[in-house]
Amino acid sequence: MVMEKFDKDKLREYKNKRDFKKTTEPRGGKKGSSDKPRFVIQKHDASNLHYDFRLEIEGVMKSWAIPKGPSTDPSDKRMAVNTEDHPLEYADFEGVIPEDQYGAGTVIVWDGGTYDNLRKDKDDDSLSMQDSFDDGKVEVWLHGKKLSGGYVLIKTGGKDDDKWLFKKMKDDEADARRNPVKTEPKSILSDKTIEEMEEEMENED
Ligand code: MN
Repeated sequence: MVMEKFDKDKLREYKNKRDFKKTTEPRGGKKGSSDKPRFVIQKHDASNLHYDFRLEIEGVMKSWAIPKGPSTDPSDKRMAVNTEDHPLEYADFEGVIPEDQYGAGTVIVWDGGTYDNLRKDKDDDSLSMQDSFDDGKVEVWLHGKKLSGGYVLIKTGGKDDDKWLFKKMKDDEADARRNPVKTEPKSILSDKTIEEMEEEMENED
């Protein structure tokens, strides 16, 4: 099947960077379903702490690393760096990536859920997520446990620049007083903080 080959190629960079004998991160292989597309935000305590924002688009998780994490305040613009596509299974991954591996450090699933595509073209027809991504402007409505409402990603750099901006859209879910990155640090899967996850994994060795 042509589609299958295409999806495997999309994950080539992801696979080349990792040794699956050493890391417990998923190899990939799961196909997209007809369910609503998913999003996930993983808190990743690597050499620099950051938040990985991932959106399911055409069989992979398109990914951005956001150093400061998301904000619910529309006046905050957060830098987001587009990184390699990740497999769909990555949306459920948390744990510790070993020291000698790419992205070494602790990961928790900080938020996640499903999303709706908000993007329309000039004629008010909906634009596919892949076309939105290629166009450098992605608009989604998140249905997460911590985050909800409209968020926009805008590519700011040129052709070979991976820099984007991530910000909350102005809607009823916007709230300049909230600061979930600070006040809601726990995993939505295990209810653990990064520190608790790290501690538990150390004790397992
Ligand atoms: Mn990361």
